[in-house]
Amino acid sequence: MRILLAEDDQTIADHTRTKLELEGFFVDHRATGPDVWAEGETGDYAAIILDLGLPGMDGLSILKRWRAAGVETPIMVLTARGSWMERVDGFDAGADDYLPKPFRSEELIARLKALLRRAGGRAKTTASGGGFVLDETSRRVTYDDRQIELTPLEFRLLAMLIAEPERVFDPLEIARKVQGRDDDAAKNAVEAMIARIRRKTNPTAIATRRGFGYTLAGEGA
Ligand code: CA
Repeated sequence: MRILLAEDDQTIADHTRTKLELEGFFVDHRATGPDVWAEGETGDYAAIILDLGLPGMDGLSILKRWRAAGVETPIMVLTARGSWMERVDGFDAGADDYLPKPFRSEELIARLKALLRRAGGRAKTTASGGGFVLDETSRRVTYDDRQIELTPLEFRLLAMLIAEPERVFDPLEIARKVQGRDDDAAKNAVEAMIARIRRKTNPTAIATRRGFGYTLAGEGA
């Protein structure tokens, strides 16, 4: 599932992103108010983690604009510790949950999962692209309507490609997000995983763009 992380503190953002990725989430990070607002309005996210103190446009204004524009994505706001006014204002503006700073990443992840469960029908659990359909709840995968068996790492790799089916992914970036490291061994493991997914489906299911990386967009796309 894709999560938008809106946070201008680089240390908190890096740490939170790493923890979320280890839980299998795909994280887009934005650090300024205008970027966050634009991305949240047009992006397809299962949930948004929104720091209220952002440069350029504050989180509360962004939240109100999203809700006024019909954005229904579940939103967790990050507030200053002890600021009950921020909490009240946040709920009034359409937040679904809040977490005071500083927070433990374990608590953030537990609350995020609860938020996604509560959101139920609002949160998208299937993703499709390039002939694949992934169900993130049941962990089932089909290719051309035929069920295929994937390992958890292969599942994560495919979910990453499907999240942006037109994009070409650098093998080292895939290694970092899927394996948690980006050395040569991890890159070789990614290449082996791609080969296995092709064997389970079709040699052209994942395209290689020589010198750039892998994509679900076929040659004609
Ligand atoms: Ca901030």
